[in-house]
Amino acid sequence: MRAWRISVLVLVLASFGVHAQVPAQTPAPLTAIRAGRLLDPEAGRILTNQVILIEGTRIRDVGRSVVIPPGAQVIDLSDMTVMPGLVEAHNHLALTYKPVPENNVYYYTYVQDSTPLRAIQAASNGIQMLNSGFTIVRDMGNNGNYADTALRQAIEQGWIPGPTIVNSGIIIGGMGGQFFPTPEMAKDHNIVYPEYLDADTPDEIVKAIRQNVLFGARVIKICVDCKPYGYTADEIRLIIREAAKSGLKVEGHVQTLAGARNAIDAGIWSIAHGTALNDEMHKLMAQKGIWRAGTETPQGLAGHPVTDAAYRRTVDGLKNAYDNKVPLTFSTDADYWVEGRTRGEVCLEFLRTWTDAGIPSADIIRAMTINGYKVSGTDQTRGPIKAGMIADIIALPGNPLDDVNALKDVRFVMKDGKVFKADGVMTPAAFFNGGPVNGWRIR
Ligand SMILES: [Zn+2]
Repeated sequence: MRAWRISVLVLVLASFGVHAQVPAQTPAPLTAIRAGRLLDPEAGRILTNQVILIEGTRIRDVGRSVVIPPGAQVIDLSDMTVMPGLVEAHNHLALTYKPVPENNVYYYTYVQDSTPLRAIQAASNGIQMLNSGFTIVRDMGNNGNYADTALRQAIEQGWIPGPTIVNSGIIIGGMGGQFFPTPEMAKDHNIVYPEYLDADTPDEIVKAIRQNVLFGARVIKICVDCKPYGYTADEIRLIIREAAKSGLKVEGHVQTLAGARNAIDAGIWSIAHGTALNDEMHKLMAQKGIWRAGTETPQGLAGHPVTDAAYRRTVDGLKNAYDNKVPLTFSTDADYWVEGRTRGEVCLEFLRTWTDAGIPSADIIRAMTINGYKVSGTDQTRGPIKAGMIADIIALPGNPLDDVNALKDVRFVMKDGKVFKADGVMTPAAFFNGGPVNGWRIR
């Protein structure tokens, strides 16, 4: 018995040894980016004539006097503003409601579009987001039967290009979720499932969270108050505790003042939608450091009218949050088709609300970068352009500190150290592979 164990051990060690030799035989490629202007969002300033040296997927060095080793591939962005990738903190990549066939009623989208079709939409939407410079997307539910996990796995395993996905799996809520299904539809979960996990009792809540963890969620999304029987602060505490066992944070969809109070009282990680957040709630959120994913829909999106009064409330709410120093993230809730626009372009239209709220460009950029990395939980691994971080880098001709709308013209995108877009054109060949080149076990 003992001898058998030792021989297995030797075999295991030997196989590790074989793996360990692989990197030595194929050294990671070196890439050097010459950045004419390098934007540091944390400091809100621009450094000139910098070199970013990338080894494989990671940044090795940054600075004015970094020496470019012989043999390194040099990317000349000396006439561009180079900056870290953008974060969209609330999207639904596997949901696209449309004028036809469902007249923009997303309830009917669930009937018309299968999960496999929506997974393919998600792959396309993810590529569209990356093309606009979004290297991280928090995908907050309404993705059929885990199309969001499939997207994340496909990107992480190396099948297709896309942003880093922080996905929620299925939204957890009291019976019905955000829907008002007929009894015929709800009782057998023919329609509501899989868009919402009904979780009304503590046991159901725990089970629902574990289901999402098992099927690949990276964050837990709940309906705090979609129904009159929404979650109490104690129930939200249970959700936070259970999610924390698996290292996950909790985002709450909030649409009432009472719901906001419960979510804040419980110490939720982030609150989606700003509609119910007043001055008092903003002050509490600032005090507790609760993230605001306000999803501030602008006026002017074709086919998606916003009344003057509604827009005024949105702008005032965002401005109030900013004045109260609530931690802000850039978030859109984009889950629809705007004709002539990619998903990424639709998201960047939301800059209008931020500028109308009078928020300085440097702080809008912070919300889209630094705060985005923090709310996504990636800030120790990817985001900032500094040594040791995974290289997610974008570049644009203008200076977004002068005019944040310069972000609408991203001409260069690097993801995981590989060039995805150069000279304004997607060049994603390196991201398409015939197998899970980064490992099948990633789940
Ligand atoms: Zn949403």
